Amino acid sequence: MEKNTYDVIVIGSGPGGGACATLLQKRGIKTLLIEKNSFLGGKMVSIEKDGYAYDLFPHGQVPTRQPVFEIIFQELGVGDEFQPTLLPNDPRDMITICYRRRDWKQFRRVSQPQAMGDSTPFFRLWDIDEAAQQKTLAFMTDVVTMPDDKLADLDNVSMHEFISRYDIPYELYSYMAMHSNASLAEPIDLVAASEQILILKQIMLQGGGGQYKGGFATLANVLIREFEKNGGTLIRNTKVDRIRVEDGAVTGVITPKGTFNAPVVVSSAGLQPTVLKLVGEEHFDRSYVNYVKGLAPGWGFTSVRYFLNKPVMTTGNYVAYSDDSWWNMERFLKVKEGRIPDEVTLFMVNHCFFDPEAAPPGKQILVSGTVCSPNPEAKEIEGLWKRMDEHMVQLFPEIWEVTERREYSGPREISNLTRDSVLPGYGGECVGLGQVVGQCGRMKPNPSAPIRGLYYAGADAGGAGMGTHQAACSGMEVARLVGHYLNKRLKAQ
Ligand SMILES: Cc1cc2nc3c(=O)[nH]c(=O)nc-3n(C[C@H](O)[C@H](O)[C@H](O)COP(=O)(O)OP(=O)(O)OC[C@H]3O[C@@H](n4cnc5c(N)ncnc54)[C@H](O)[C@@H]3O)c2cc1C
Repeated sequence: MEKNTYDVIVIGSGPGGGACATLLQKRGIKTLLIEKNSFLGGKMVSIEKDGYAYDLFPHGQVPTRQPVFEIIFQELGVGDEFQPTLLPNDPRDMITICYRRRDWKQFRRVSQPQAMGDSTPFFRLWDIDEAAQQKTLAFMTDVVTMPDDKLADLDNVSMHEFISRYDIPYELYSYMAMHSNASLAEPIDLVAASEQILILKQIMLQGGGGQYKGGFATLANVLIREFEKNGGTLIRNTKVDRIRVEDGAVTGVITPKGTFNAPVVVSSAGLQPTVLKLVGEEHFDRSYVNYVKGLAPGWGFTSVRYFLNKPVMTTGNYVAYSDDSWWNMERFLKVKEGRIPDEVTLFMVNHCFFDPEAAPPGKQILVSGTVCSPNPEAKEIEGLWKRMDEHMVQLFPEIWEVTERREYSGPREISNLTRDSVLPGYGGECVGLGQVVGQCGRMKPNPSAPIRGLYYAGADAGGAGMGTHQAACSGMEVARLVGHYLNKRLKAQ
């Protein structure tokens, strides 16, 4: 084969691109993987610095049992290396949920082992009577037993609309609204019920909140190690500037390190950046360009990392919310106008719970986050950081005395590290394109682009479920599609 010529070029080493490239190479397809950063893993980047090992952004795996990464590791022959740091039968209290009803002065909290199907701790937390408990159980039973074909009927129904079909206590509605922010970075009145229910089912039946030793990037590191071991070529620190298209088919990519040729390019740089910037509008039909421009971005997620010289948190995950802290569209728009709410919801990961070596002895690292706009230029982010800090003191009064250092990040950093902002207000998406009504399930963007040999892998196209799982599912699906395409091409030659 000619120098710089491959069967497939994959752009990006996040869970979508990483899974796709690794599976293609394992199946004997000569693949080049190009990553713009020095590190691997995209948004699931993990850092090892000054004795700490942590995710730059707070991550938890859903489902814990049989996430798609486990299936991929098995195909690669390294199934025994798939070692989540939380076993399904771990008896320790893993998650603390902290809640304040509107008419309460104080937050109440409850801790429990890995998030599964037991509603009893929630009944204690919400302090609801027997009748409300029965209504909650009836709703949750419908959710957990919902067959896949019924789930697909809810692609075009928002979670708010779905819940409104039931007579449920407000405490359950409030929890579901918080959950749509926490698990999907979406508002309850836009998120597709099919997506949220899928995630709820997975948490209840297969567990949720898992982590990996060394952080989530461990997954990418193993995948790409296998990729290279199987003969794949990885180029880091190199940004793809253009995807070349001739006569309606891709022919390769252009980078500062030269031009690379392939009849297939799989991009996980984001669907909109791929179409509007890397390929260019001129190569697509106007109707497709308009469709792509009209796709709604998911929300962003802004984080604060607390480096502590003494532990303050005992469980692995922590969620603190109130009836006033979750965001629906109305609250989101108020924040966009600059009205910072008094309270924010906090989602936290304590890496030391999952891996005692994640911090130097006697120390702790907490990665905390809350939802925000995906706009890299959003002005309200600093106001949200302030609220997050204030809320941390409420939850852990001793925290400032033991804080050695804090780091703040938001949609600007997410965009810089992962996808370019090619439309005003886009780029800092936490998951990818919104998992909202009209963009999910059967209506999710197709991973095959209307240009021969061009595919999108990752959270924007194909796949379903929570961020990393969804993106890796998409990577797996695209590897299959590309295999078929290359076979057909070979037969036609
Ligand atoms: C704060 C935060 C919290 C999250 N919490 C969770 C969670 O709890 N659970 C969960 O499952 N998911 C979570 N997610 C979401 C999850 O990380 C993403 O959905 C997932 O990483 C998306 O994968 P991807 O492969 O589509 O894209 P990405 O992870 O964004 O990877 C894209 C890759 O492409 C590279 N790239 C882009 N453009 C180019 C170019 N031109 N040339 C070369 N390389 C390029 C980027 O550098 C990057 O490595 C969270 C994300 C954030 C930001």
